[in-house]
Amino acid sequence: MTWNKPLPQPTPISAPFWDGLKAHTVRIQQCESCAHWIFFPRAHCPSCASARLAWRGVSGEGTLYTYTVARVPTLPEFTDEMPQLLAVVALDEGLHVNTTLVGVKEGEIAIGMRVRPVFDERPVEATLLRYTSQGSDQPRVIEARREESAAQDRNEAVLENAPPKRKIDCKDIDALKSLVSDTFSDWSTQFEVTQQVIDEFAKLSGDDYWIHTDPKRAREEGPFGTTIAHGALVQVLISRLKLPMTFEVTGFTNMVNYGSNRLRFATPVPSGCRIHARCRVAAVEQVKSGVQMTMEINVHVVGQDRPSVINDLVILYM
Ligand SMILES: [Zn+2]
Repeated sequence: MTWNKPLPQPTPISAPFWDGLKAHTVRIQQCESCAHWIFFPRAHCPSCASARLAWRGVSGEGTLYTYTVARVPTLPEFTDEMPQLLAVVALDEGLHVNTTLVGVKEGEIAIGMRVRPVFDERPVEATLLRYTSQGSDQPRVIEARREESAAQDRNEAVLENAPPKRKIDCKDIDALKSLVSDTFSDWSTQFEVTQQVIDEFAKLSGDDYWIHTDPKRAREEGPFGTTIAHGALVQVLISRLKLPMTFEVTGFTNMVNYGSNRLRFATPVPSGCRIHARCRVAAVEQVKSGVQMTMEINVHVVGQDRPSVINDLVILYM
């Protein structure tokens, strides 16, 4: 599993804090001269300037000092994690820690509520300190491996809960026409568009423009602050998404992908985001060689209202 979202960069001064999180403990500094608690990690006590600082394990518990619900991603990499619950926690030692809340619903968040730490193991290097309410059933540790299997479970649930398929013969033009609707299907399974997938597509297609393949330059100079997937890549990834269709066309000798009546790359897919799709039958037409069905397929970044790719796919049943 890859992880394209920004992660903390430990320094020699802050490393004990991050190492503590990896061991599922919260460690903060205390001045040995004046007993002042210190956060963020420093080389000298901000109260008495002593360099005699010790790392102490603490409970990490505290109260919610303040919070905000971010509905616009704070960085493009977080587009599929909306809304972000940004919070400041006041530790019982009196220090303030910036964090994000997990395992709580928006309506349950209250300033002053008791909170406890959640150790969020990222697959690359770092464990993050998140918080949840004292009474939440959120596990104390978010295991990277478990998160991956949760994604798998989610996809299996999409397929298991898919409606039973109505079989429709391709010669039954009236039945096919009755499928035309403005209403979209349920969401498909999800797929994570990692930098690795983008790099492989760049190699295959020869489109290795830096906006797709150079995360450093994209961060510094790019319009999106991160690399983005090629529109054409997102379009072909539709094949990776299993759509919970309500019908199945039968009785044809040949089915041809005839191309697209409309293809739009409406919004970018930042590297590392998950996508899913939904579709509807937009048109059914009798043509000389058979029946032509136009499916409007919209691919979205998970959690986003605006689609990233709109594809009016034309399928010919012969
Ligand atoms: Zn001091």
